Amino acid sequence: MKTNRFLCLFIMLALTALSFFGCAENSAGNPPATESNLFMGTVVQIKIYDSAEEYIFDKAFTKIEDIESRMSLNLPDSEISQINQAAGKNPVHVSVDTYEVIEKAIYCGKISGGAFDITIGPLVKLWNIGKENARLPDQYEIDQALLHIDYSKIILNPDEKTVFLEDEGMMLDLGGIAKGYAADELAEMFEQEGIENAIINLGGNIYALGQNPNGEKWHIGIQDPEAQRSDYIGIASVSNKSIVTSGIYERYFESGGNSYHHILSPFDGYPFENSLSAVSIIAVKSIDADAFSTAAFALGLSDGLKLLESYPDVEGIFITRDFKVYTTSGLKNSFEMTAGQFTLAN
Ligand code: ADP
Ligand code: MG
Repeated sequence: MKTNRFLCLFIMLALTALSFFGCAENSAGNPPATESNLFMGTVVQIKIYDSAEEYIFDKAFTKIEDIESRMSLNLPDSEISQINQAAGKNPVHVSVDTYEVIEKAIYCGKISGGAFDITIGPLVKLWNIGKENARLPDQYEIDQALLHIDYSKIILNPDEKTVFLEDEGMMLDLGGIAKGYAADELAEMFEQEGIENAIINLGGNIYALGQNPNGEKWHIGIQDPEAQRSDYIGIASVSNKSIVTSGIYERYFESGGNSYHHILSPFDGYPFENSLSAVSIIAVKSIDADAFSTAAFALGLSDGLKLLESYPDVEGIFITRDFKVYTTSGLKNSFEMTAGQFTLAN
């Protein structure tokens, strides 16, 4: 088990390019203290640019492990698994954190007209995209799974902090929101510990705390969806903000000449097909950036942009399959294009 974990970490690190620029050194001319580990199905990398003691990293990874142990769909004892096992039977008492993430996810379901839906579990399990056993389900299986997808059937009790899934086949999956929550928790912990400048990266779900070693905003590269991991279409400059991307290139599998990515439609059961190849969201809270990136991708260019424009503190960069880039109006001064193949369309 342990050997496997380290092998996986090594391979994933080799594949993960750094998504931010700036000096590789902190203000004293030293490299940042950096540690990585595998959690929540991805590489979690922490770079601290202030002087940091080892216990901070331990505390950070313990925190993530704790969040994973409560919110993962893949751990049989997690609170999410307990809720799923009790679907159609009884409400399950959960921690305040899990309760609040589910509450936020339901809110995102409402504002996205149901495109973002954390009861997507049965479909995620059916397709298994990103796993070895990914496959194209048949129409009957998809229709059966769709019967159990409806976030309005999640019953919350705010006094008891319980969660109940009304119908037996329902299954929650927080894959589109939990990493954002975890990034926020780490950012908050760092602030409490007096860490001012750091990059928290949960497999591309980034929180940029403070400033870079030159005393500027952090310059975060927005991944070119069509290219190798280290190519960028542009750079966003941020401080104390999160950047999260959802795209067709992150997790997918190919079958019969078609490519199937991992953001699934609660309406027809297939991966969302629209003009987009990726959406990046910038927000103060990573939970917002994470959920909105999935939701905006699902909604598509026009409705996605409209949704984001109604939130003054949430910005977005939309990349289309025909190499155009659209940004929300609040990004005019903090986003710069870099790759010639792409053009800024608005
Ligand atoms: P990633 O987790 O790979 O960074 P996202 O944040 O976009 O990517 O989340 C995608 C994950 O969210 C999927 O792997 C799945 O677990 C879940 N998911 C898929 N479709 C939906 C959907 N329509 N609404 C909410 N969550 C979804
Ligand atoms: Mg997401």
